[in-house]
Amino acid sequence: MKLLISLALILTSFFSAIPSFAGDSLVVYTARKEHLIKPVFDAYTAKTGTEIEYITGKAGPLLTRLKAEGTNTPADLLITVDAGNLWHAANEGLLLPVSSEKLDTNIPAHLKDPQNRWFGLSLRARTIVYNTDKVSPADLSTYEALAGDEWKNRLVLRTSKKVYNQSLVASFIAEHGETVAEKTVRGWVANLAAAPFSNDTKTMEAVAAGIGDVGIVNTYYYGRLMKKDPALPLALYWPNQNESGVHVNVSGGGVIKHSKNSDGAFRFLEWLSSTEAQSLFADANMEYPANPAVPSSTEVLAWGEFKANPLNVASYGEHQAAAIRLMDRAGYK
Ligand code: FE
Repeated sequence: MKLLISLALILTSFFSAIPSFAGDSLVVYTARKEHLIKPVFDAYTAKTGTEIEYITGKAGPLLTRLKAEGTNTPADLLITVDAGNLWHAANEGLLLPVSSEKLDTNIPAHLKDPQNRWFGLSLRARTIVYNTDKVSPADLSTYEALAGDEWKNRLVLRTSKKVYNQSLVASFIAEHGETVAEKTVRGWVANLAAAPFSNDTKTMEAVAAGIGDVGIVNTYYYGRLMKKDPALPLALYWPNQNESGVHVNVSGGGVIKHSKNSDGAFRFLEWLSSTEAQSLFADANMEYPANPAVPSSTEVLAWGEFKANPLNVASYGEHQAAAIRLMDRAGYK
């Protein structure tokens, strides 16, 4: 009997050791800031024993590096922001298509590459922010309406050089065609109260300071700024609710084509889409989980519910070049 028990103990410890893949390791190239992503890596290491090394950097240089490294790359997984960047990585042949029931269940079809080379892991809305002392939400309706004469010298925008705005305009092209999209962008440019700002936070600060009355920003930047200074006269508005909905974008990831541990990278990507990892991934940056089974954090839920545009985010990449040309033609700096 004693022997049986000890044998059972040995067997149990042997089998329980297997799923940890002791000695397994992964290299992640990520455009997400270290303080946002490290807790996610640490949680996976604690769970599986897989060591994760990572390099953080801006999306463009990371893609250039991956291309230059080619088959010699040490990277197993790319995690970056904006569907436009993920689309580029796939288009450059840097990512491996993966077929996974878990990912298909966890991530809605419009938040991933139709060819399964990348998957959205968190969601951000690019929406209207307004000065609560100067604008009533009743004055607002759609992104397109901000091109109207009533907003002359009242609109502030971030530079068109940022991929977030390229994706926003690409979504207009995907949905309405170039002619309608260009009319909107030309109207915006005519309504600008100041030259475009270098980032979303400066855009909001200009709205709060009364330089302009309305702007267009990503939700998590609003969350960050209001956390720092809750007294700012700013609020979010969810546009296009009687149309297709608010423009949403993703941060996400894909397995590197020349990964030497693509199985390990695949398992990690599946885990990132799970209920266990999604809150950790989204909440750190005040984003929405991409997995609809996972609730948003209370601070994010406080901004209110909205209808999101169900357009496939991959279309932002497909129309990005046309969007850049359009913004250039329209004089959007
Ligand atoms: Fe950002």
